[in-house]
Amino acid sequence: MFDSLKKHKGVIYSNKKLSNTLNHIVIKTEDYISFEPGDYITLFIGGYVPRNYSIANISSPSKNIEIIINTSTPGVGARELKDIKSGVEINFLEPFGNFKYKKNKYSWFIAVGSGISPLIPMIHQAKIDLSNIKIFFGAREEFDIPDLSFLDIPINYTITKPSDEWKGDVGRVQLILKKELDKNKNILNKIYFYICGQPIMINHTLDLLQNNNIKNENIIFEKYSL
Ligand SMILES: Cc1cc2nc3c(=O)[nH]c(=O)nc-3n(C[C@H](O)[C@H](O)[C@H](O)COP(=O)(O)OP(=O)(O)OC[C@H]3O[C@@H](n4cnc5c(N)ncnc54)[C@H](O)[C@@H]3O)c2cc1C
Repeated sequence: MFDSLKKHKGVIYSNKKLSNTLNHIVIKTEDYISFEPGDYITLFIGGYVPRNYSIANISSPSKNIEIIINTSTPGVGARELKDIKSGVEINFLEPFGNFKYKKNKYSWFIAVGSGISPLIPMIHQAKIDLSNIKIFFGAREEFDIPDLSFLDIPINYTITKPSDEWKGDVGRVQLILKKELDKNKNILNKIYFYICGQPIMINHTLDLLQNNNIKNENIIFEKYSL
């Protein structure tokens, strides 16, 4: 089934917690891997179970492929990768992708959980392009929020299960996006929206954008379908 696709050999180089529910994994490869922002690889979990993971690297080509995985679910990939040790061999199929960045004056990025991964290289490119960037990130609890300070751009965070200490926004990511849509009515048709994460979040965000008459060609999304 995968015979015609380019396979790569890799070794786990590092596996670090980014938040309570996200890990950042670096896979060292034999060859340089070229990719575009938004691309993903297909990892063979345990040697044979294929699972897709977006590339979080900011520059291509690279011999150190970075992925961000959701560790909060009990699936095969999450279980196997959560505690995977440095030195374990892991093979994958070459980068694929339909989730494409397009240079534009306004770029807004919306993610929950590991959906932030492909947005990282896109945001990096948007910075280079001097685009006006806004980032919206949703999580369940504050401990689920990764440190994204390296992006060096203010991020609009919201969580659905706040502790008493949380002083920020509460609710789903569409809520903070809606506030900004309402404040920016005059430029809405000029913005490109990039959305990534679980299908239910994407569907709700698409409804919100369509209710604001955003054209389909200005909405670019990747569903992490189960
Ligand atoms: C293009 C693309 C890019 C992607 N990129 C990423 C990425 O960068 N990072 C990322 O984390 N994911 C990404 N995904 C999703 C990823 O490929 C997997 O689908 C996802 O991580 C779930 O795989 P899994 O093997 O952990 O769960 P699976 O074994 O496939 O199970 C699916 C779901 O079923 C439920 N489930 C499974 N077993 C049990 C059980 N024993 N008890 C109760 N419930 C259970 C869980 O909710 C689980 O999440 C991407 C998907 C696509 C399509």
